[in-house]
Amino acid sequence: WFDVSAPWLERVLSRKPRSILRAVDGVSFGIRKGETLALVGESGCGKSTIARMLVGLYPLTRGTITFDGQPISNMQGRSGLALRKRLQMIFQDPYASLNPRWRVGRIIAEPMLAHTNMTEQERDARVDVLLTQVGLHASDKSRFPHQFSGGQRQRISIARALAVNPEFLVCDEPTSALDVSVQAQVLNIMKDLQRNLGLTYLFISHNLAVVHHVADRVGVMYLGRIVEIADRDTLFSNPQHPYTRMLLSAIPDMTGQGRKRTPVAGEVPNPLNPPSGCTFHPRCPFARERCKSEAPATQNFKGVEIACHGVAEGWPMQV
Ligand code: SF4
Ligand code: MG
Repeated sequence: WFDVSAPWLERVLSRKPRSILRAVDGVSFGIRKGETLALVGESGCGKSTIARMLVGLYPLTRGTITFDGQPISNMQGRSGLALRKRLQMIFQDPYASLNPRWRVGRIIAEPMLAHTNMTEQERDARVDVLLTQVGLHASDKSRFPHQFSGGQRQRISIARALAVNPEFLVCDEPTSALDVSVQAQVLNIMKDLQRNLGLTYLFISHNLAVVHHVADRVGVMYLGRIVEIADRDTLFSNPQHPYTRMLLSAIPDMTGQGRKRTPVAGEVPNPLNPPSGCTFHPRCPFARERCKSEAPATQNFKGVEIACHGVAEGWPMQV
């Protein structure tokens, strides 16, 4: 339904106009209607870049992204506006993304002004419905963002994103600025809304517990590539790529079975100057000579897509 094929994407860093970061490289994936695909990885791996490209906030310089068969590479003009209505984004920081000088009712109604011909009365009625859907009260519309807690503010962001009846929500770390106790509430509201409204989510997170809670499928990103993508349960019970295994071993086991712990070793290299070959090779305990020179292609192993020479060739990979 949503197809991303980006053999070589790049973006120009705004602060260093001369340096070009290949933020997302060799990425290709699809998202099915009604599912949650989570992209997980350490910071700087390019997951936010993908999120922003999907909603047109970053330019796509090569490759294609299609949504429902339509290319979204060009979000300009009238057809771009129609497309943007169907794709909305929820940002990480509910403090920064809500205008502090506007009342909540105006914040939530704003996308309706841009995308619909609704009357003020219709918009007002819709704001009431949206506030109730996210577990707030219609009367909250006359208050200002600073009068709400972090979790409540993120509910307001969700209500705003839903204002124009989108089909697809890109959620970039939507709960990572919140207290752990509040995170689950917001995630559960998002799951309820998905079920009731038939929404599709791309969910970006560095938090594997959160990913395990929300995702149907999971893509693991490392330095701008997806190194493994699988159904959630398959990925968590049988991680295969060495980087996925490293990430999962750093968290308590969520499958109920024992898992041998391997520490997360080494630092994430500078994405401006990524290592040759398999970019994970300096941190990989199984790296061989070939890994330093040749980037592994993504291959499908019984529905799990993995980019690793060792997995493809069945190298012994016991820690
Ligand atoms: Fe490790 Fe080589 Fe696989 Fe990269 S390709 S993850 S270095 S074994
Ligand atoms: Mg980010």
